[in-house]
Amino acid sequence: MKNKKESIKLIEKLLINIGEDVTRAGLVDTPKRCVNMYEELLSQTGVDPKYEINTFFESENEEAILVKDIQFYSLCEHHMLPFYGVCHIAYVPSNKKITGLSKLARLVESSSRRLQIQEDMTLMIANALEEQLSPKGVYVIIEAEHMCMAMRGIKKIGSKTVTSKKTGIFLEDKDLVKDIEYKIKL
Ligand SMILES: [Zn+2]
Repeated sequence: MKNKKESIKLIEKLLINIGEDVTRAGLVDTPKRCVNMYEELLSQTGVDPKYEINTFFESENEEAILVKDIQFYSLCEHHMLPFYGVCHIAYVPSNKKITGLSKLARLVESSSRRLQIQEDMTLMIANALEEQLSPKGVYVIIEAEHMCMAMRGIKKIGSKTVTSKKTGIFLEDKDLVKDIEYKIKL
């Protein structure tokens, strides 16, 4: 984060404007903690997550690979409130090119640590896989709960937003899509 000292002052100012006494014991270190927290939660701002896909292997098995229920936490760009849930990633390799399974989890992690909307995060993950693996197709699904819908506004607790992005073979092969969705239990 640029200019941490100034950021701490700005959070302090925000607390004062809310009507808080920033000298009371519980709040003395809050601006600093808050800035450190944003630094951690938004650490991948401006970083292209595709570089997490940086090891490549060969496999004779060219069937779809699915890693499901990859947990993540992100912040929505409209309210800076958390949205969180799971991401499922499926891809069908091309030219025997695959990546490590943990790299898919790292891709989700990097994609989540920034201000955004769920729709764009889904696209970002699909694009990264397309660029790094040139697969026959990818199918990315994110299921998330948005605190901005649960805590404020419409106050719908427990509702889930599901977004997806399909490319290549997943746009054509309905049986393959069904098979992946069955495995995810969508
Ligand atoms: Zn929001």
